[in-house]
Amino acid sequence: MTRIIDGNEIADRITADLEPCLETLADAGTTPGLATVLMSDDGASETYVSMKRQACNDLGIESIHHELDPDAPADALFDRIDELNDDPAVHGILVQLPLPDHVDRQAVLERIDPQKDVDGFHPENVGRLVTGTPRFKPCTPHGIQKLLEAEGVETEGADVVVVGRSNIVGKPMANLLVQKSDTGNATVTVCHSRTDDLAAKTRDADVVVAAAGVPELIDGSMLSPGTTVIDVGVNRVDADTEKGYELVGDVEFESAKEKADAITPVPGGVGPLTITMLLYNTIKAASLQADVDVSL
Ligand code: NDP
Repeated sequence: MTRIIDGNEIADRITADLEPCLETLADAGTTPGLATVLMSDDGASETYVSMKRQACNDLGIESIHHELDPDAPADALFDRIDELNDDPAVHGILVQLPLPDHVDRQAVLERIDPQKDVDGFHPENVGRLVTGTPRFKPCTPHGIQKLLEAEGVETEGADVVVVGRSNIVGKPMANLLVQKSDTGNATVTVCHSRTDDLAAKTRDADVVVAAAGVPELIDGSMLSPGTTVIDVGVNRVDADTEKGYELVGDVEFESAKEKADAITPVPGGVGPLTITMLLYNTIKAASLQADVDVSL
């Protein structure tokens, strides 16, 4: 019987574990603050930011929101980041991606104080992750790690195929899984658009993490029986619904479910964990800046 992994339930458990950390910080006079910066009028980005803000409010993290006109010069964003870097009430800074074409995304990520970089995208934090001394693990791969742990999926010695090599999901996912640690020790293959015979790779995997951004790229015929399937993809496809679209993952759920031992649905799988790990990183940032040990 295939297990459908309930990301919401796992996220709720992790969130509950964060509450005592907030109490410890409150006792020390600190309320964690997360600044979100939106420079886009893309509907999906607006939705993601409002979900993150809501999650902060629900848990008791101060949400500080900034919006910039997408046509504003890049310097307006740099100036705003500088202000947030200097603001002691702001412990974490999240600039919602994607950014307008005229803004150099890498320069933006490097402008954020690495101590406040709760996305974990600053080169200093990427370097720390790769060398096995992480400060902030990027939220989506960290959430997947937590999800695998919660489901009792053994990564040690497992063959894991990560489909996608982005700096946000694929590469940090591979880096986490390959670390010499209890939640790593996997043998990792990273696939991308130039990979020859993707199906041959995924069929050899014990765990497949699909993060390609291609609707239903991976179907049941590409999986061996007993695989754990983690579907990161969130793709809007045209559909006869009220909104005119529906969300599908990078995995063709129905056929993959027939082969998988366990599988994440879309929505309700990886997504909730991504937001939870943002809360986790914000609390960790506050604890580091306030020099209060909350054991994260
Ligand atoms: P990117 O577009 O940055 O990266 C996609 C990666 O997939 C690239 O490395 C690309 O290869 C690879 N790829 C594309 N087509 C294929 C293919 N046919 N076969 C194999 N590999 C392919 O996307 P992200 O990493 O940012 O996001 C991936 C997906 O995850 C998206 O659907 C996104 O919406 C979703 N997402 C979900 C989150 C969540 O919380 N649930 C959080 C973040 C992202 P190449 O490098 O060669 O171009």
